[in-house]
Amino acid sequence: MKFQRIKGTRDIYGKEYEILMEFYQRAKKTMDKFGYSFIITPTFEDVNLFIHSTGETTDIVEKEMYVFEDKGGRKVALRPEGTPSVLRAILENDIEIPCKVAYFANMFRHEKPQKGRFREFYQLGVEYIGYIDPLVDFEMFLIIRELMDIFEVKNYYFEVNSMGCIDDRKRYKEELKNYLSEKLEVLCNDCKRRFQRNPLRILDCKIDAEKIKDFPRITEFLCDGCAEHFEKLKMYLNKNNIKFSINPKLVRGIDYYTKTVFEVKSGRLGAQDALGGGGRYDGLMKIIGGPDTPACGFAMGMERIMLASEYKLPYEKDLIFIVYTSPELKEKAYNLYLFLTKETLKCDIVLDTKSLKSQMRRANKKGAKYVVILGEEEEKMGGYKIKDMEKGEEKFIKKENLPDYFKNI
Ligand code: AMP
Repeated sequence: MKFQRIKGTRDIYGKEYEILMEFYQRAKKTMDKFGYSFIITPTFEDVNLFIHSTGETTDIVEKEMYVFEDKGGRKVALRPEGTPSVLRAILENDIEIPCKVAYFANMFRHEKPQKGRFREFYQLGVEYIGYIDPLVDFEMFLIIRELMDIFEVKNYYFEVNSMGCIDDRKRYKEELKNYLSEKLEVLCNDCKRRFQRNPLRILDCKIDAEKIKDFPRITEFLCDGCAEHFEKLKMYLNKNNIKFSINPKLVRGIDYYTKTVFEVKSGRLGAQDALGGGGRYDGLMKIIGGPDTPACGFAMGMERIMLASEYKLPYEKDLIFIVYTSPELKEKAYNLYLFLTKETLKCDIVLDTKSLKSQMRRANKKGAKYVVILGEEEEKMGGYKIKDMEKGEEKFIKKENLPDYFKNI
């Protein structure tokens, strides 16, 4: 019986795996510099954590979450995003606030798979918890700019908006509903449904965009505090030469955002062009039972980063393949293999005893640059034959000279 991956999931291997690991290491270094500590939270959580924080009427919770009952009858969800888990962990472990936390983790959303959109995908997430200061929002852009540099993503741009505080949003929602109520008849069925439950999401609709061109802008409904916060952020961005445009439709698909929201997008990706997104979430800690604590963060999709990146793996280490002329020499060959791996050379060997010819074929197929041949003759002479697979040349090397031989080429 043959099995296939579940739709929307992927196997990451070979070069892609190497690049992903390289990016993780680079990102870790950058986040260390900015003083962030990494965290691993569980892959699944109480489903209510996401219902209460991400929001009951959001697409993520309403349509996309993988929810199941475990054997103890608990209703759990595979995490669709990282922020709620991080806040829960801060509270549960009494981690001192203010704090800066980052994570690499796989997320799960039952979305329609397409290029750059999967049902399991990897995010780098960054959360800065404890300050209302717009410098925190600004730091998110600084970090993203540095990440784009180290991930070698060139063609990117920022879109920014402000969602105001809870009161601003309430007023704005009413205003937007007034405006939309006159157009409701001509809007698509999805938007008709969203009208009652989550009218802000109508701004995201691709189908109705033209029909609601002159919608009221949320930034015109900000209270003095939120307006000043937004002005300061824009000033910091301008002063530091971080280019951005204001996108009044950017409301993001998650309930908890307050004030700043932003996305970083790529010109190279087609429909799924968001490399990352985030914003401020001043009310979330309280929603999940903690103290009233301001915070700001973002998450980046690593699959999309890899699609947009110009990074190429440096030349791989040369593979050294060890072969032996008779089964009796297999253990000796294996010892040599272990010895060479200790010298941090990249080695391989065939273990199911095959003819020399077939071992050489395997070495060739694996792209070995050198083959070390253990043979009876060479054993007697205290050394090995080495074949340079590109040049086709062979030479004899004394056992004790072997490590130096490889180090010097
Ligand atoms: P979000 O948590 O929705 O703000 O997403 C943050 C980032 O994660 C996005 O900008 C994408 O780069 C990435 N992302 C979100 N959903 C998916 C998905 N289904 N497949 C791949 N990447 C995703």
